[in-house]
Amino acid sequence: MNSADFRRHAHDLVDWMADYLDGVEEFPVKAPVRPGEIAGRLAGSPPHAGEPMATILADFRSVILPGMTHWQHPSFFAYFQANSSRPSVLAEMLTATLGAQCMMWETSPAATELEGRMLEWLRQMIGLPEGFVGSIQDTASTATLCAILAARERASAHGVGMGVGVGVNETGMNDSGVLTAYCSVEAHSSVEKNVKIAGLGRANLRQISVGDDFGMLPADLDRAIEADLAKGCRPACVVATVGTTGVSGFDPLRAIGEVCRKHDVWLHVDAAWAGNALVLPEMRWMIDGVELADSFVFNPHKWLFTNFDCSAFYVRNPAEFVRVFDILPEYLKTRDGSSVTNYRDWGIQLGRRFRALKLWFVIRSYGVEGLQQLIRSHIEMAHSLAEDIEMAEDFELLRPPVLSLLCFRFRPQGADEQSLDEINERLLQTINDSGKLYVTHTRINGTYAIRFVVGQTSTEPRHVREAWTRIQDLARDLWPAGRSAPD
Ligand SMILES: *Cc1c(COP(=O)(O)O)cnc(C)c1O
Repeated sequence: MNSADFRRHAHDLVDWMADYLDGVEEFPVKAPVRPGEIAGRLAGSPPHAGEPMATILADFRSVILPGMTHWQHPSFFAYFQANSSRPSVLAEMLTATLGAQCMMWETSPAATELEGRMLEWLRQMIGLPEGFVGSIQDTASTATLCAILAARERASAHGVGMGVGVGVNETGMNDSGVLTAYCSVEAHSSVEKNVKIAGLGRANLRQISVGDDFGMLPADLDRAIEADLAKGCRPACVVATVGTTGVSGFDPLRAIGEVCRKHDVWLHVDAAWAGNALVLPEMRWMIDGVELADSFVFNPHKWLFTNFDCSAFYVRNPAEFVRVFDILPEYLKTRDGSSVTNYRDWGIQLGRRFRALKLWFVIRSYGVEGLQQLIRSHIEMAHSLAEDIEMAEDFELLRPPVLSLLCFRFRPQGADEQSLDEINERLLQTINDSGKLYVTHTRINGTYAIRFVVGQTSTEPRHVREAWTRIQDLARDLWPAGRSAPD
C-alpha cells in the first residue's frame, strides 16, 4: 500500500469510526450468531496474491461486524464493561502508527517516562498513599500473577541474608516447603489460576468464608494462617478483593492487612473494577487500610474510558519487586543502565506496548472532574434502577448496588422456589436474544441472579430505564401472572 492509498483509506476509516460510535446503538448488543458461523464465511487458506483494501474493508463489514458483540453499546450491562472513549481511540491510533516496542527506557524514553508519570497521576487520583510505585500491565490477571510470584520469592527466601533472589527463582520449588495462599470464596478466578501457574498448587489455596456483606472474614483468615503455620506450611500471599466480580463484595483491608503484618504475609489488593470508583473521594472508604498492602491493581480498561488493555499495578517496595523479574543478557545492556527505569523488569514479558499514551489523552481530555462526573452518574443510574426493582412486586433485589453493580431476579406470583432459577435463566436468554441489551448472571448463596452493571461511556439514564421496561415486559410475556411454572 502506498502513502496516497493509506491516506485515503485512513480518512475513510475515521469517518466509519465516528459513524460507528454515533450509531452503535443500532446494532444488536450481543452478536446473534451460532458457533462456527463466522468461521464458515472465512477463506480456508490465505490468498496467494495481495487483495485490494476495498475488498478487505467490505469483508470486515459483511463478515466480521455481524459476529461482534458491541462492547461500546450504551445498553451493554454485562460482565464488567471494557469502556473506551474517543480520546482513547485517538491515542490508540497514534500508538499503532508509532509502532514502538517499549521494553526499556532506551527503546522509547518518552514511553517509559510518560508511563511513570501516568501511574503517579492515577495514584493521586485514586488516593493511594505515597510510596506506591506503578507500572502498566496488560490485565489484572497478569498483575496478580506478578504479585503472587513476588510473594512466593519473599516467603521462600532462605540462605545468606534471607534476601529475595535466593528463593524459588534460584533453587526451584524443591527447597521451599509448602507455600500457601489465601483469598475469599468470592475472589476472581484469576487468583486460583495464578496460584497454579506460580507453582504453589491449587491445593494450597485457602478460600476463606465471607460474611453477610460478602467481605472476607479476617478472623477466619487468621485461623487459616495459624493452622497452616502449625502444619509447617509457609503462608506466602493473601489476595484481598475490593469489589468482587460476582456481587461486588468488599474485603475489609485494614483488618486483613493487620493479619498479614502479624504473620509477615504479602498482601495483594485486587480492585480490578471498583478501583476506578476511587476517583470519587466519597468512595475512599473502600481502601481504608491499603497502606498495609504490598501491591494493588485496578483496571482503567474496565471503567476509566481507556481502551482495553490497560491495567494499573502498584507495589510498595519496587526494589524487592524488580529483583524477582530482572535479568540482563548481553544483548539488552544499555549505556544508561541502572539510572533509568526499564519496565521489562516489572513483569513477565519483555516486549511492551505503548499504553501510557491513551491514559494521558483520556485524563487530560476529561480532566479528573469529568471522569468523576461520569462514574458518579453510573452509580446514580444503578441506584435508581434498584429503587424501581424494589418497587416492582414480581421482582426481587438480591444485591443492592454499592457502586454500579446490582443483582435481582424475577419472582412471578405463584412460582415455587425451585423453578425460580430456571425461570430466570430463561428470562436472561430472552433478554439477550432481544439484542436490545446485554446482561449476565451470577449465583448468590446458590440462587440464580441476573447481574446488571452500569458503566458504559455513553450510557444515559434513558438506556437504563428502557432496559428495565424491556426486562419487565419480556418477563411478564414469558410468565403471565398466575402461571405456576415454565413450560
Ligand atoms: C475483571 C476482574 C479481574 C480480571 O481482569 P483482567 O484484567 O481481565 O485479567 C480480576 N479481578 C477482578 C475482581 C475482576 O473483576
